[in-house]
Amino acid sequence: MPTPHAYFQGRIVPLGEAKIGVMTHAFNYGTAVFEGFRGNWNAEDGSLYLFRMREHYERLARSSHILGLELREPLDRLCELTLEIVERSGYEEDVYLRPMVYLSSEALGVRLHGLESDLLIFITPFGPYLDIDKGARCHTSSWRRVDDLGIPPRAKVTGIYVNSALAKTEAELNGFDEAIVLNADGHVSEGSGENIFIVRGGRLITPAPSDNILEGITADTVVELAAAELGVETVQRSIDRSELYIADEVFMTGTAAHLTPVVEIDRRVIGDGRAGPVTRELSDLFFDAIRGKSEKYRHWCTAVRARVAS
Ligand code: PMP
Repeated sequence: MPTPHAYFQGRIVPLGEAKIGVMTHAFNYGTAVFEGFRGNWNAEDGSLYLFRMREHYERLARSSHILGLELREPLDRLCELTLEIVERSGYEEDVYLRPMVYLSSEALGVRLHGLESDLLIFITPFGPYLDIDKGARCHTSSWRRVDDLGIPPRAKVTGIYVNSALAKTEAELNGFDEAIVLNADGHVSEGSGENIFIVRGGRLITPAPSDNILEGITADTVVELAAAELGVETVQRSIDRSELYIADEVFMTGTAAHLTPVVEIDRRVIGDGRAGPVTRELSDLFFDAIRGKSEKYRHWCTAVRARVAS
């Protein structure tokens, strides 16, 4: 039986022992930055492939820097700790790793300075998030993406996810799978937890970082695969809501969502209502890469062999 483990207060412990007090600053005020990356199970060789772990920790370091939180552990140590958690947990299925730097002081008072921060990392099993085969039916959210002048969205701040949760809940309660969130300027920003791409005239187009997106690692992966394997270039520029409707193809990318085709937006069918040819080709390349099946992109993966949990 797998036994999930966590790194908590400087030690690797069974997940059930990793508990915070109710006065913890991050719990009260959302003062934490985090990451999420997947370990993708490859049954053929009995390994979990951690996808672009180092890049996720680099983004964690950047998020911490933006908020002025201290991330004491160097990158190599973060990767080492993660491998140990994965090994000791013993999963033989797709998993999700959740590192977090959080204000751990049990103190009231809204601020970011003069408080203790700590690192935690936990693991949990994690299957598909959106239905990749059917594709996502989306709507334009009535909520706006938080602005860099409010809470900078290029930092993956826990508190920001109230913005995402408002959008996701509105979408689902209205019968859609996912929200597309516009920024305060009215341009397309991203999904509740995904970056968005359109295909027009054989090129990929995706909003620029200044459109208040999280700079996604899956998006970066797809851009590289598109250029190297398909000779398809990506343009970063603002996208209007109505441009989504007339795109040849639309898809979303994210650690949770992988690469999900968007087949309908605001009750308009996109393309022919199924994943388009560019999306399908990219999808095949992507799934081979993340499960360690592509020799060329093996450097994106850290393999952890399954072993009995201790
Ligand atoms: N935007 C938001 C708001 C997200 O939460 C995520 C998921 N981390 C993404 C985009 C996609 O980022 P990534 O591909 O690095 O998971």
